Amino acid sequence: MAELPEIFKISRQMKETLNGKIIKDIVITQEKCTNVTLEDWKKRVIGAQIQDVINKGKWIVTKLNNGENIALSVGMGADVLFFENEKKQADKYQIKVLFKDGSGYTIRFWWFGKFLLCTDEELASNPEIKDIAIDPFDSKFTFEYFTSILKGKRTQIKSFLMNQRNVSGIGNAYMHDILFKARLHPQKKISDMTAEDIKNLYNSIISVLNFSREKDGLAYEKDFFDKNGKYTIDDFLIGYKEKRPCPSCGETIISIKTGSATSFICPNCQKI
Ligand SMILES: [Zn+2]
Repeated sequence: MAELPEIFKISRQMKETLNGKIIKDIVITQEKCTNVTLEDWKKRVIGAQIQDVINKGKWIVTKLNNGENIALSVGMGADVLFFENEKKQADKYQIKVLFKDGSGYTIRFWWFGKFLLCTDEELASNPEIKDIAIDPFDSKFTFEYFTSILKGKRTQIKSFLMNQRNVSGIGNAYMHDILFKARLHPQKKISDMTAEDIKNLYNSIISVLNFSREKDGLAYEKDFFDKNGKYTIDDFLIGYKEKRPCPSCGETIISIKTGSATSFICPNCQKI
């Protein structure tokens, strides 16, 4: 599942490649993933120019010069692929955006995603998007900021970090190593964390996500130019490594249920 390193990369590639292009046509074969009819899409986006592409947590927002926004959530994953001309486009897709210069991009959701058309006002009030917190790659995500959002909280640290209204962009994939590097049990209460725990956690979030960013994201995810990332299972410290030895102390890594998800932990290094 795409998380911040993958989404960040693809949104930056889209920005660099698509800025200034004018939309010529749009194809949507899976109407369930969108919020307006294809007829409305065509009316509102054809002829508009791409002004910017940003990420808001795990959402990718394409801003058009006419006050419209295309908000994309890849859900469990998607191939979002650029093509220089239609002869080179992917065979399978549910969405295709075509530009005046003949280039375009296709989206194929692996499971189910969202592709919404919103005015600036609708985007600012969309319940799924409006409250998304800043992500750890944002320059405003400082240690002081992180400390301030934890202040007075009593929830378990993993569920706090998974909530996109607190910190955006982190999902289950990178969480295991983030908590392991900080020596924190996923069910540890924030109110029981020391100042050192918070410092370790902040550093761990930054270093785990940056390490993946340097490796161009997860190996099973493709970027905008059909290239896979280089972050493989070998790069995880304890994530998805049940029954293998902890790289730090040698204890056997176990998986536990935390809420609806699984967490991989070292029971020796991460005590509750
Ligand atoms: Zn250990």
